[in-house]
Amino acid sequence: MIALSLAEIAEVVGGQTHDIPDPSVQVTGPVVRDSREAGPGSLFAAFVGERVDGHDYAAQVVEAGAVAVLASRPVGVPAIVVEDVQAALGALARHVVGRLGTTLVALTGSAGKTSTKDLIAQVLRRKAPTVFTPGSLNNEIGLPLTALTATEETKFLVLEMGARGIGHIRYLTGLTPPKVGLVLNVGSAHIGEFGGREQIAQAKGELVEALPPAEEGGAAILNADDPLVRAMASRTKAKVILFGESDEADVRAENVRLTDSGQPSFRLHTPSGASDVTMRLYGEHHVSNALAAAAVAHELGMSADEIARALSEAGSLSRWRMEVTERPDGVTVVNDAYNANPESMKAALRALAAMGKGRRTWAVLGKMAELGDEALAEHDAVGRLAVRLNVSKLVAVGGREAAWLQLGAYNEGSWGEESVHVSDAQAAVDLLRSELRPGDVVLVKASRSVGLESVAQALLETG
Ligand code: ATP
Ligand code: MG
Repeated sequence: MIALSLAEIAEVVGGQTHDIPDPSVQVTGPVVRDSREAGPGSLFAAFVGERVDGHDYAAQVVEAGAVAVLASRPVGVPAIVVEDVQAALGALARHVVGRLGTTLVALTGSAGKTSTKDLIAQVLRRKAPTVFTPGSLNNEIGLPLTALTATEETKFLVLEMGARGIGHIRYLTGLTPPKVGLVLNVGSAHIGEFGGREQIAQAKGELVEALPPAEEGGAAILNADDPLVRAMASRTKAKVILFGESDEADVRAENVRLTDSGQPSFRLHTPSGASDVTMRLYGEHHVSNALAAAAVAHELGMSADEIARALSEAGSLSRWRMEVTERPDGVTVVNDAYNANPESMKAALRALAAMGKGRRTWAVLGKMAELGDEALAEHDAVGRLAVRLNVSKLVAVGGREAAWLQLGAYNEGSWGEESVHVSDAQAAVDLLRSELRPGDVVLVKASRSVGLESVAQALLETG
């Protein structure tokens, strides 16, 4: 964070100073919302939550060294009091990024935001100091908090933006105005909340509407393989760069294949040259994420060779996304329990099949949430694909959707006995503990709400 005096902060956020003996004292960072993270030089943002009220921690954070509290009422210790702490945080972030010469890269999409954000950061930081969203901190609070960690040295700021509805991304881009905007895909995630894919596209496209025109360096990076994303080209004044497997894409992958260990490998083509990539990440859905990252890096001046090297060395920075662990007894556990949608389920199964050549493979799968009317057909299709890929055993975990998974497998062929339906994670663990043999490969995947990471963790503890 750049150092700012309390007087300057109060002015920027339109707040009143209370109990501040010396307004020239500086906040040197970080700005935190968790009282346990407050330390010398920090500013504590007090939010009123459902169960806890940040204001109750005011004395404690000052004790820990915090310079002041950004609060919605006086708290008896140094405070800048505003009407709305969230809006104040946003105003502060906007002020700070405006002062820095940092290039802001923002990305959104239905699936793969965090994975791609991590890839972009790992590529860009080879060129210059890069700050990026930790984990999935992608809303109106996480975004300013991340932006506020940038310093004078920061060249690139990479921000994940989640869209909860129409107008949300527009609001976020107002806080931290991006120069480069990337839209990954418009899938069916949260389709229930939005009402349909067109509405999701409408909401996500606000990102490219917010970009500066091409003459001012604005660049919209769009997925050529996703018609709803591609159509966003007409909603921006920024330069449009397309990525994807389509021939029309500016940044393309050729000869895409999965290695025997399930990792994608391809030849990367950019307008400035071509180079080979073999990823450390698992699953072909990362090809699209990698191309998106490559397009951003190309736009920001990196060569195809530099980008390809960085993509080949990039690892996952976030938990439970195709996390591959080998147990001492030779059982491989693939924990992809962070989340699931039809595309990523299929990609994960294909990666499992590639990794499991000559080995027994297990797909421990739970429901894919929020699919609305498409739920039955999508679960059925995943069950069928497991059979077609010769996965040795399907363990469908949970209620109705798990039954659909199993039924899909059953209907696909003579494979019925190789698929089981268990009621919950514990039952899956019990089954696997008694049946796993050295050399087996186990994929664990479902939507976030299912919490299947407990299965992967239990398997690793007993390993
Ligand atoms: P969230 O909305 O929870 O922040 P996200 O968009 O950040 O999610 P990731 O965390 O990167 O997405 O990935 C979530 C899941 O989506 C992963 O477990 C992975 O299986 C899948 N996924 C990643 N990239 C893609 C992609 N390009 N297409 C489809 N699915 C993907
Ligand atoms: Mg995320």
